[in-house]
Amino acid sequence: MELYAPSLMTPDGWLEGCLLSIGDNGVIDGIDVVDEPPPDVQRLAGPVLPGMPNLHSHAFQRAMAGLTERWGSQTDSFWTWRTLMYKFVERLGPEEIEVIARQLYIECLKGGYTAVAEFHYLHNAPDGTPYDNPAETSHRILAAAQETGIALTHLPVLYAYGGFGEAPLGEAQGRFRTDPETVLRIGESVAEQTASSPVITVGAAAHSLRAAPPALVRELQTGLHARNPAAPIHIHIAEQVKEVEDCLFSSGKRPVALLAETCDLDRRWCLVHATHLDETETALIADSGAVAGICPTTEANLGDGLFPLPGFLGRNGILGIGSDSHVCRDAAEELRLLEYGQRLHLRARNVVASEREKATGGNLWRRAVAGGAAACGTPTGGLAVGNRADLIVLDGDHPDLTARRGDTIADTLVFGGARDLIRDVMVGGNWVVREGRHPQEEASAAAFAKTVESVLD
Ligand SMILES: [Zn+2]
Repeated sequence: MELYAPSLMTPDGWLEGCLLSIGDNGVIDGIDVVDEPPPDVQRLAGPVLPGMPNLHSHAFQRAMAGLTERWGSQTDSFWTWRTLMYKFVERLGPEEIEVIARQLYIECLKGGYTAVAEFHYLHNAPDGTPYDNPAETSHRILAAAQETGIALTHLPVLYAYGGFGEAPLGEAQGRFRTDPETVLRIGESVAEQTASSPVITVGAAAHSLRAAPPALVRELQTGLHARNPAAPIHIHIAEQVKEVEDCLFSSGKRPVALLAETCDLDRRWCLVHATHLDETETALIADSGAVAGICPTTEANLGDGLFPLPGFLGRNGILGIGSDSHVCRDAAEELRLLEYGQRLHLRARNVVASEREKATGGNLWRRAVAGGAAACGTPTGGLAVGNRADLIVLDGDHPDLTARRGDTIADTLVFGGARDLIRDVMVGGNWVVREGRHPQEEASAAAFAKTVESVLD
């Protein structure tokens, strides 16, 4: 397939007027600047940017968005939110999980995401017993991804304990119970079914050091990389101050330091919610090449805290973004809040820009695409030959893009653009959103409404 792009963001900057060639395997095999659009080639409707990988998702939480924003106790916190989330989870079976994930993935595609890393821990039945097929709910997530066309990195989750010091799981946590062997078998089951798919990747995750002590995480990592040396591995690392304090109390170490001591941190790792870091930990993550997975809207919603962005970027740290609890399904909005949190805190502007990378929005978009691709374990780190054709096309006729060129296009998308700026979305060479519409959006929305109504009944 050949397409003409009036302007296109590459990892090295913008090209004006180029021919984009995409092979039958969905991989970009040519990007060539041309004097004028060839007559027989489809002309894209506006500027082209790489699609954003969404490196952290719990799909089922999409159905809770807006339901936990009320006074619940004297001290509403992450932990009171978690209790409500556990209650919600009790009412979800495999069918509900698939319907909710399908709706979410359509919204993500329309919001600029072309891939999602699903950190999936709802493995067992509501009473805590495993399904006949332990991979049942993972296959529902897979089905939702395949029905919508979003690229998926599936991360079945290790969840063995209820807290530091190998505390037993609470009653509500029986749904999440797994051991390393089960997690790896679930991953194999998904991988076997999707071996020929260029848009499905399998890795694994440990829920947190609360739910999996370092030795168990190490066992998971060893087993995973024995099967696939390139597979991504994720963990929630330091979301809450209490989590850091509990970790210090039980081990004498902070979470990142504790993880790094037992597991070899490298570029296959994604440390989600690396929120509470001291300088040594910030350097440990940055120097290891592991991706810091930041989820700005969820971290704001849950009152987690702010990621130490300037120190991390000062050490050339790699970062990406995730929509996590899905209070927001808009890639540009996540990046905007990432920067705005720092501006409010530091009372400064353009915190992620530098003399070399002058454009804040452009810099954020490129960094998060590259980091998100690493976290997803996929060759999607920007529009370049050899990478998968995951891209978004903006509406070139939109008033917001008037007189915008180069990185001011990305700056406008992140800081000044309307939600309807994204017009077309392609994943692995296939159009999944055309003219702002996903072909299944009406059917999915109707099924989603019916499901949410019955779950909340
Ligand atoms: Zn999470």
